[in-house]
Amino acid sequence: MTDNFEDIDAFASAGLRLTVDLGALVENWRDMARRSGRARTGAAVKADAYGLGIEDVGEALYLAGARDFFVATAEEGATLRLYAPDARIFVLSGIWPGTERQFFENDLVPVIASEEQLTFWMSVLADHGDHPCALQVDTGFNRLGLQAEDAIALANDVSRPASFAPVLVMSHLACGDDPAHAMNRQQLEAFRKVSTAFEGIEASLANSAGIFLGSEYHFDLTRPGIAIYGGQAVGNMANPMRPVATAEARIIQTRSAKAGETVSYGGALKLTRDSRLAIVSAGYADGYMRSQSNNGVPLRQTGIAGGQGFIAGYKVPVAGRITMDLTIFDVTDVPEKLVRAGDYMELFGKNIPVDDAARAAGTISYEMLTGLGLRHERRYIFDEADE
Ligand SMILES: *Cc1c(COP(=O)(O)O)cnc(C)c1O
Repeated sequence: MTDNFEDIDAFASAGLRLTVDLGALVENWRDMARRSGRARTGAAVKADAYGLGIEDVGEALYLAGARDFFVATAEEGATLRLYAPDARIFVLSGIWPGTERQFFENDLVPVIASEEQLTFWMSVLADHGDHPCALQVDTGFNRLGLQAEDAIALANDVSRPASFAPVLVMSHLACGDDPAHAMNRQQLEAFRKVSTAFEGIEASLANSAGIFLGSEYHFDLTRPGIAIYGGQAVGNMANPMRPVATAEARIIQTRSAKAGETVSYGGALKLTRDSRLAIVSAGYADGYMRSQSNNGVPLRQTGIAGGQGFIAGYKVPVAGRITMDLTIFDVTDVPEKLVRAGDYMELFGKNIPVDDAARAAGTISYEMLTGLGLRHERRYIFDEADE
């Protein structure tokens, strides 16, 4: 690892720390761009770039050549604008009365997703003059978007004002992570009709998973998110992306416990052998979810294994219930001299894939990353050795 940052001491002494490998991030984005074929490749950077920091992530992707970004809110767009000066920034939740100024001042493109928003947007154009927009069309997700028939009617409406200038028409896949799901093709067919009606306007359908579905799904612009951050986009397939985020927590103390004793709240774990335990400074308040406790939580009754940490070449299980600020790991199988107070336990990253940690918690990498909490000391590296 390179230490090319100024506040090395804060990182070296942090109880909880997150390393973001911007080199791997950029590599993943380029991989998505290759898989997107002739389509241009954007980037979804909503929710603080999936918890990894929109400033650094946005700038790294901009420098790598990304010029189309997707955020959820105008506030996120305003932050990103400082790092992506001439990029197109699409705001997925659209525009709301009172937020017009943010769109005009920061040159943000609202993604119009309902009849109400459309009506409001027409009035904004009448008051403030020309501004680009995008149109979200629902093709079966039933989340945001104009009804496909209404969108097609709009495309054919010769009376619509000239200032109404969509630069993108888009829709979102519900089942892209399951390539065999019939809904993918249904949404593709529905979206084709819409994009044909809006001839001459760019079209976008594919998120990360959609990119893997093949060139039919790529249209003019793709919108990868999770794959850029190293997460698994498609189920039942090896994840080809490089890990980007590594979360580590410091061991505050190690202790010995006897067979027959119990560990953590509820005495949920009863030790079957004399054990050594490492207490680390991360808990559910830090997004290290209680549901991945190894004992004493409902998810364990389903047969899904609990969470694991990684230290000194060993994978070690969580012991008992995860608590608000602390998690206990069973390090009995690791040579004693390799686990000391002050050492760091990897919670997920290069050795524990974020998707494995998420699975142990009964969730997906998206939630693991966006739930990281506020107590991580973040460090950004650009690991050129791996380039
Ligand atoms: C979040 C989001 C994306 C990115 O999705 P991933 O599954 O993370 O690749 C793309 N499009 C829309 C509309 C989104 O909300």
